[in-house]
Amino acid sequence: MIIANNVDKIYPNGCHALNQVSATIKRGEVVVVVGPSGSGKSTFLRTLNQLETINSGNITIDGTDMYDKKTDINQLREEVGMVFQSFNLFPHKDVLANVMLAPMKVAKRPKAEVEQLAKKLLIKVGLKDRMFNYPNNLSGGQQQRVAIARALAMEPNIMLFDEPTSALDPEMVGEVLDVMKSLAAEGMTMVVVTHEMGFAKEVADRVLFMESGQLLVDSDPESFFDNPTNPRLQQFLSMII
Ligand code: ATP
Ligand code: MG
Repeated sequence: MIIANNVDKIYPNGCHALNQVSATIKRGEVVVVVGPSGSGKSTFLRTLNQLETINSGNITIDGTDMYDKKTDINQLREEVGMVFQSFNLFPHKDVLANVMLAPMKVAKRPKAEVEQLAKKLLIKVGLKDRMFNYPNNLSGGQQQRVAIARALAMEPNIMLFDEPTSALDPEMVGEVLDVMKSLAAEGMTMVVVTHEMGFAKEVADRVLFMESGQLLVDSDPESFFDNPTNPRLQQFLSMII
């Protein structure tokens, strides 16, 4: 479970990207985050993985305070996988080696064991026949599925997705969302920033709406989409749907 409590993030340039953000993400929950560009969605995700520090408030993951000096950040990071809009695969390594890299180099697990895990994950994301391909020879949707397998290879408890389908051609969005749906069905805890409202309606347990660094709405998808009461959310939805 992740608990963010009154989190503030002010970038060195003075930009107040998160303003008193509080949210709880329970084990097994899928939480979708939406909001206009610049509202703080990526910043929020990145604070959950310590890719950004925070200025005040606190964040705990399964009871451990992320920003306590005594906390082993590297160990905590291993519990949280992240998938970005850009896949950032290593171009000179094949698909299997990309997936095996972190568990071997970071977690220092034995090669044979990691190879077995990586193959299992690549089958799971539908890339059984692509294990020995190089990233450049794959479609965007396939590369993003490799990136998901790579994050899963560290066997995280929580997966963060920051607009995982935004860089994809429309015909490849579905295959990536399908992998995410099956992860959700297996009970993975997920926080997903996306513009895919269909995914949010179908898969999310809760939807969060951010604007100007504030978390304005936190509700179940039905009330969020069908019966929004917050005027800013009403305006946002009228623009995108
Ligand atoms: P988008 O939908 O465009 O991805 P977002 O909701 O993810 O937007 P963030 O990227 O979290 O928004 O940005 C929130 C605010 O913080 C914006 O005003 C942005 O300009 C600012 N910001 C983001 N990263 C930095 C940074 N490294 N330094 C300074 N300001 C930043
Ligand atoms: Mg963003």
